[in-house]
Amino acid sequence: MREYEIRTRVVVLDEQEQNATERELISAARRATESSYSPYSHFQVGVALRLQDGEIILGSNQENASYPVGTCAERTALFWCGANRPGTVITAIAIAAQTGGRFTTDPIPPCGMCRQALLEVEHRQGTPIRVLLYGENGTHCINSVRDLIPLSFDSDNMETCNTQT
Ligand SMILES: [Zn+2]
Repeated sequence: MREYEIRTRVVVLDEQEQNATERELISAARRATESSYSPYSHFQVGVALRLQDGEIILGSNQENASYPVGTCAERTALFWCGANRPGTVITAIAIAAQTGGRFTTDPIPPCGMCRQALLEVEHRQGTPIRVLLYGENGTHCINSVRDLIPLSFDSDNMETCNTQT
């Protein structure tokens, strides 16, 4: 038998411990919750992407009466970025959420589908995307999307299969 362990390092920063760039991105994610269209869940999620040139792109969750039609904030921002800033490197993502007029005390991590979508971008650009998960009790910082989705599937796995046949 063999076994191995996969560890994810999470650093929790309060506002005083964040640098100005981090504070700005988290603030943008908080602001992005205001454009959420979430009449069904009443759960407003906001995302801010930092591009390599410093630009910040916002996204929010957009729901639909036909529930699966809606899109998470993360993919709203990612796909807007892909369509309007193709080839641009994303260096960081901040995520915040509020419900009932209050931001969540604990951070809201991206769903599995958004982790996979983020991983594709990180893999394609070849540089890590830092993840900042905002909560009123602190922002949880992870250095790479890959750390959020261990044993992940990406295009390299398909190449491995292809070379074996
Ligand atoms: Zn999602």
